[in-house]
Amino acid sequence: MRAKGRRAIGIMGGTFDPIHFGHLVTAEASRAAFGLEQVIFIPSGNPPHKHDRVVTAAEYRYLMTVLATSTNPYFRVSRTEIDRVGPSYTVDTIEELRDALGPDALIYFITGADAVMELMTWNRPQEILTQCELIAATRPGYPPADFQRLRQAIPQVSAARVHTIEVPALAISSSDIRRRVASGEPIKYLVPETVEQYILKSSLYTRSTTAGGHGHGGLTEMWL
Ligand code: NAP
Repeated sequence: MRAKGRRAIGIMGGTFDPIHFGHLVTAEASRAAFGLEQVIFIPSGNPPHKHDRVVTAAEYRYLMTVLATSTNPYFRVSRTEIDRVGPSYTVDTIEELRDALGPDALIYFITGADAVMELMTWNRPQEILTQCELIAATRPGYPPADFQRLRQAIPQVSAARVHTIEVPALAISSSDIRRRVASGEPIKYLVPETVEQYILKSSLYTRSTTAGGHGHGGLTEMWL
């Protein structure tokens, strides 16, 4: 599974609303399994597929991602999708990184298997499959039928570029954390302590913190 002789970089794409230990374990497990030099976390700025649901303002999600990753020397966080105007298309992010790294670098795009299943509905999916390898992270007990659907979702010619990794810590989910905070249940040990404190201090998931919608700007109050 390791990339030999070529620079290998991971891109960890997600909304991270909020980031949790499942994401961190996924990134670290992928780094170890695929010999990645570093993993760059890229919080979505303006997720094109989420216009039907409220997403926490990008600056909060970005800051939580910085707090969560700060102790791992292999992890970086990029603002590229947050600072980009317009929808956050993965293909633009991959092309930007490809320009910066050159044609020889191996780029691994890491995200949830359910998101990868929808890949062919994303903007310019064939270019994504040409420019990078994909790592689809699954939760424990991911049904065999879903693996089948995952395989069928990707054209046969590109199937070898899609890898799966099972991450037990992905039993944790962002939606469950949001629900827990809203109903006053604890989130300790589901997210790093710094993220837990930041969520409580900023009253995230208990009141509207979507001012300005997605992307940059628009916040009336924000604390670090
Ligand atoms: P999502 O649909 O909210 O998530 C689908 C599933 O994947 C959820 O169970 C989610 O769990 C999990 N997941 C998401 N990111 C993960 C990660 N990095 N590691 C492990 N599990 C992860 O997915 P999303 O977060 O909005 O999007 C995922 C990535 O795909 C982003 O980088 C996004 O920009 C990209 N994407 C691009 C396009 C496009 O270019 N048109 C369209 C769709 C998605 P949690 O909720 O617990 O995270």
